Amino acid sequence: MTRARVLLLNAALGPLDYRVPHGTEVEPGSIVVAPLGPRQLLGVAWEPDRMPSDAEVGDNRLRNLLAVADVPPLRAPLRRLVEWTADYYLASPASVLRMCLASTSALEGARTVTEYRVTGEVPPRLTPQREQALERIADRQGLIRELATIADVSDAVIRGLVKSGAIEAVEVDIDSPFVPPDPDHAAPTLNPGQSEAAAALVAAVADHRFEPTLLDGVTGSGKTEVYFEAVAEAIRQGRQTLVLLPEIALTEPFLKRFHDRFGVEPVAWHSGLRSTQRRRAWRAIAEGRALVTVGARSALFLPYANLGLIVVDEAHETSFKQEEGVHYHARDVAVMRGKFEQCPVILASATPAIETRQQVALGRYAELKLPDRYGPAEMPHIAAIDLIAEPPERGRWLAPRLVTALTETLDRREQSLLFLNRRGYAPLTLCRTCGHRFQCPNCTAWMVEHRLTRRLACHHCGHVEPVPRACPECKGEDTLVACGPGVERIADEVALLFPEAKTAVVTSDTIWSPAKAAEFVGRMEAGDIDIVVGTQLVTKGYHFPNLTLVGVVDADLGLEGGDLRAAERTFQQIRQVSGRAGRGEKPGRVLIQTHSPQAQVMQALITGDAETFYAAETEARREAGAPPFGRYAAIVVSSEDQPCALEIARLVGRTAPKVDGMHVYGPAPAPLAMLRGRHRYRLLVHARRALDVQDVIREWLGALEWPAKARVTVDVDPYNF
Ligand code: ADP
Ligand code: ZN
Repeated sequence: MTRARVLLLNAALGPLDYRVPHGTEVEPGSIVVAPLGPRQLLGVAWEPDRMPSDAEVGDNRLRNLLAVADVPPLRAPLRRLVEWTADYYLASPASVLRMCLASTSALEGARTVTEYRVTGEVPPRLTPQREQALERIADRQGLIRELATIADVSDAVIRGLVKSGAIEAVEVDIDSPFVPPDPDHAAPTLNPGQSEAAAALVAAVADHRFEPTLLDGVTGSGKTEVYFEAVAEAIRQGRQTLVLLPEIALTEPFLKRFHDRFGVEPVAWHSGLRSTQRRRAWRAIAEGRALVTVGARSALFLPYANLGLIVVDEAHETSFKQEEGVHYHARDVAVMRGKFEQCPVILASATPAIETRQQVALGRYAELKLPDRYGPAEMPHIAAIDLIAEPPERGRWLAPRLVTALTETLDRREQSLLFLNRRGYAPLTLCRTCGHRFQCPNCTAWMVEHRLTRRLACHHCGHVEPVPRACPECKGEDTLVACGPGVERIADEVALLFPEAKTAVVTSDTIWSPAKAAEFVGRMEAGDIDIVVGTQLVTKGYHFPNLTLVGVVDADLGLEGGDLRAAERTFQQIRQVSGRAGRGEKPGRVLIQTHSPQAQVMQALITGDAETFYAAETEARREAGAPPFGRYAAIVVSSEDQPCALEIARLVGRTAPKVDGMHVYGPAPAPLAMLRGRHRYRLLVHARRALDVQDVIREWLGALEWPAKARVTVDVDPYNF
């Protein structure tokens, strides 16, 4: 190949052709450095026939490639995945490729990196800034830049500390090997149901078969132990495994559990990694030295050298849906990756999504069931508390029956979990005198009061303000009242009711790193917490044998808003959180506070009859032509300039093609009509399943032009509407 077609990573242009200099080897998938104007950009060589270029240049006018990175080329299955993802989600191949090369620093030649850490020596001159820095980075290690960020000081402060001897340099070898996991380190004895499921999964791994399989087991049935057998088989064959988790907070418990089973930790991949860890992991994955990787959805696009198994744990979780950049669903992309790699894909869940169940019904996915909890653990007893018949006291949120249950649980020295999917103290703060409400200046959203930090925060853009003493409108003092509960307010009520009990609030505000999650798990296991008050963060994954009571503070919360998946999500969430109760030898119970105990979803939760609920939900979807029977795509037009956003949205609406089996609704203000200072209008495309709606939208939008201040994004198979 003397001519190479290259997809550049950060150019809006299509693929460009370059000349391959003498003595340089370039093949499809090679990672190269190419000139563009005065710039040097990273790119990937591609098969020309799969990536047409609209700027064909004669051989004599080609520019030379500047370099080829010293890493393995992206393999064909990953290249096919990039093409598929770009095509399906209407994204540019370059934006997908950026996810594959997540760590461009991994491409740098050097095999060692200098990191820094605290020595323990006190510097002769201890300024407040130095003190702050040393305190915050006490047990951390990283590049100077990273430590400065953690400590919230300038690079110069860190460098000064290095000079004074309080911080020292350490050479990190980024090729230092990952010890391979031992498949037989501590293999459990499976019960007959588990063995049967494990055998089917192991066989698929052994045969290198593309086989998506739903591992549908109740909470505590041993799904993890079962899919670990498939992981063990992949390890024996020297092939790589990817385990996707929905939440970075679940990584730490998973690492520990994996260590117990296989003797070493797997490679972790998530946004919290330091740049050096990222480099080391990326290279080891690309060179096939990392046998098992556990990660958030971004781990899906890494360049595995020989992938033999993909596991999507808690596969029903909506956080697998990426809502920024490339709008993809990691569960669905995982299945496609398995297809291109020809390896099995396990979707593990106690509450599979209707979309996944439908794939099973159509015979496209296999299904393995684990209907019983492992060992002596029984499913918890579930009951509803009718908030109309048994209301909490005035100004309180916990009904008397739930309070009694908490008392009993405390008396038995067992642990309780109160679930409320709302961060902060109160979802709305207003002035008692004039009715002023605190709204985010950037979003169509109320500011949420956080008492722990004494701030009002927007949960959509991150804007924060101190809580003012006086109302900004009527200047009245001490007139602000909090409306409705958030987890912090429930924790206050618990503290008032049970002053001796040890409580913990678990939300993304308190558990923001794997280390924090590990700390929480440690305190739970040590019995250092009696009552947890938490958001959806505590609903999954955790296994605390002494946790026997779960209280759902407001089961109706998720049903507001009329979202397509509201009932399904409520069912999944409450069933998951219920699954935290009674996982050990002691029986568990669950109390669900609701205003509508007769609602179908509440009845399904109480009786445990998931099938009837799913059947009714599925039927309703079928009638409405909603997913998985029909499909949606959302087109969102946004701009800081409201008339501009509206005008372009109307233009998009006006030019909608008339296609049989497709209907376009809108434009209407998007659910968040303003987000991060941008006004948003949405058009919703509803189409028959069989219609290639992407093709239609590509042509439709491709023919339009709009000013740069407007942005048009497409979300295929959208959530949250
Ligand atoms: P799930 O993922 O289905 O919720 P887990 O895999 O977390 O279930 O299993 C629940 C608990 O039961 C865990 O502590 C797990 O180690 C234990 N367990 C499950 N199966 C076995 C087994 N065959 N032998 C020993 N312990 C098991
Ligand atoms: Zn905001």
